[in-house]
This record gives sequence, structure tokens and C-alpha cells, in this order.
Amino acid sequence: MRRTIALTATAYHEAGHAVAAHHEHMRFRSVTIRPGAGNLGHLAYRMPGWFQPDVEADARHRRLVERDARVSFAGPAAEARFKGRHNWRGASDDLDQAVSLLGYVCGSNGELEAYVRLIRMQAQGLMERHWDEVQAVAEALLERECLTAAEVAAVIDRVFDAGAHGRLALGDRL
Ligand SMILES: [Zn+2]
Repeated sequence: MRRTIALTATAYHEAGHAVAAHHEHMRFRSVTIRPGAGNLGHLAYRMPGWFQPDVEADARHRRLVERDARVSFAGPAAEARFKGRHNWRGASDDLDQAVSLLGYVCGSNGELEAYVRLIRMQAQGLMERHWDEVQAVAEALLERECLTAAEVAAVIDRVFDAGAHGRLALGDRL
């Protein structure tokens, strides 16, 4: 695959979803930047069988809705951070999905708007805190096109280890 700016942006977008899914403990199968039916890349995962947000809105559903929405917002957030822009153009599928899911556990439009803003900010915060991991996963995606969840976890662990060694080395000098 030729490494264009567009492809790199897709890699950051999908890496954002994958790093968020990893930290939100959402079990996913794989992540790819190979174009599929109607998408530029894809994070493959399935919700658990008990998940029926249109039927139930208990605490368990609310927690999973929030985690899933953060994972949805993380892709566009990572892409926007990579591009140095704050508009989230071209991410309407992710945003639509997150907003409609959050809508199940909200009682009014005002509540939904505030909830969307909160979850979106949390997704942005997650990407800021784990930006070196997003960069490493995006780089791995550009090299290999597709990563399993275990491979994503391995990339994240390597970044974490490198960070820990960096801090240790700094500590040693002091
Ligand atoms: Zn996406």
C-alpha cells in the first residue's frame, strides 16, 4: 500500500479506535486500514449477547453504552489530532452511531447534548494521554495493514515499557 497522507490519516483514525477499545476493555477481533464495504478501515468487534440498549437502560447498559461511544469518538478524535484540525469532517458514521447509542439512555435532547459533549471530551482526553500508543499502532497498521487485538496489545505494551525505561534512565541520572 502506498503511504499517502489520506492513508496515514486512516491509520491514525483506526489506531484511535483500537487504543480506546484496548483501554476500555472492549473485546475486539482486529483492526485494519484495508478499505471494506463503505469504509476506509474497520475495527471488528461484537457487543455481548445481553446488550439491548433499546430495551433496557440499567447501569450495566449505561456503562457499556458509554465505553462504546468513547471508542466511536476516539477514531475521529485521533484523526483530528493527527491532522491538527478540530473539525471532525468525514466521521459522520462514528458520530451518528455514538449519538444514537447515547440517545437510548437519555431522557431529553438537552441531556443527550450534554452527555455527547462529556463522552466526546473523555475520548479526546484518552487520545491525549495515550498519544504515543496511537502513533505506534498507526505505524504498525501502515506496515502490516491489519492487526489482531493481541498484536495491538503487544504494540501498546512495548510503548509502555519504553516509557518506563525512559523514566528509569532519567531517574538514574538524577
Ligand atoms: Zn471510525
